[in-house]
Amino acid sequence: MSTIAFIGLGNMGSPMAQNLLAAGFNVQVFDVDESATAQLVPFGAIAAGSLQEVVKGAETVITMLPAGKHVRSVYLGDLHGRVGLINLVEDKTFMIDSSTVDPDSARLVANEAANKGLEFVDAPVSGGVAGAQAATLTFIVGGTDAAFLRAKQVLSHLGRNVFHAGHAGDGQMAKICNNLMLGILMSGTCEALNLGIEHGLDPKVLSDIMLQSSGRNWALELYNPCPGVMPNAPASHHYSPGFMSKLMLKDLGLGVETALQTQTPVPMGTLARNLYAFHNANGNEALDFSSMFEFYQRQSKSSQ
Ligand code: NAD
Repeated sequence: MSTIAFIGLGNMGSPMAQNLLAAGFNVQVFDVDESATAQLVPFGAIAAGSLQEVVKGAETVITMLPAGKHVRSVYLGDLHGRVGLINLVEDKTFMIDSSTVDPDSARLVANEAANKGLEFVDAPVSGGVAGAQAATLTFIVGGTDAAFLRAKQVLSHLGRNVFHAGHAGDGQMAKICNNLMLGILMSGTCEALNLGIEHGLDPKVLSDIMLQSSGRNWALELYNPCPGVMPNAPASHHYSPGFMSKLMLKDLGLGVETALQTQTPVPMGTLARNLYAFHNANGNEALDFSSMFEFYQRQSKSSQ
């Protein structure tokens, strides 16, 4: 089996690396947090102490990093003298970034990689930690047709769906559009449920009605934000994530940033972004993003 270098072993990266090991790949791992690297060793991973070490002999590199600045620094190097992956990997090494970042960072890395004769794709994911653990993620790839096919061969071991969104950066843009809509949908679902509850409706009955009516949506169907309505949803488990509110704020922020670049109106996305900024500032950033329901409840007359 071929060798994969996996960089960034946090909430998402660690289970993804474990799934690659389970699929039979040789996996070399690196994280700036040494304990995160060490945790993968009992699963059969080879721990590396640097970027230089982790890419030795690897045909494919996958990164799962917090944000654009980390991705730019890991791939391109930085002002502190750190050398980036594009100057460290062997010829023909294929590079996949699954972090969620701004499309411009993805395009910059893709261009710089191409200048070195290397292939890079952006392949952000939808599906969260549960999807990473169960290898049911959706990957949204930006890159050439050939690079997409190459990425799919590896990513299909980590997810159920691998989409080709378009050119470099388009994977990130599609993911940003999806999460902009999700943030709006979740806020709207919380708003409608809370309004019904304030007028004496049973949230389960109201949810069942809306599920068979035109208000039906993903949040209502799979992720009901009102505690007790859906036993498996984060709402029924004290909003343990799931997908943290701080990550929803990050993604809505990327939505607003990209909208400013093209002067595209995103009034609903901007409002959702501001709701999450306010909600998170009140100490909720580590809760699941469906905890927005509590924001509505706290503002309601019956709770005052
Ligand atoms: P995380 O913060 O848990 O993990 C990121 C890891 O990257 C950390 O272990 C950190 O030490 C490591 N890291 C940072 N800089 C590094 C560097 N220079 N070299 C090597 N390692 C470095 O984040 P996460 O929740 O795993 O998310 C990763 C990415 O996936 C983010 O871009 C996030 O937006 C996206 N994402 C997360 C979720 C989710 O539910 N957590 C869902 C979809 C997408």
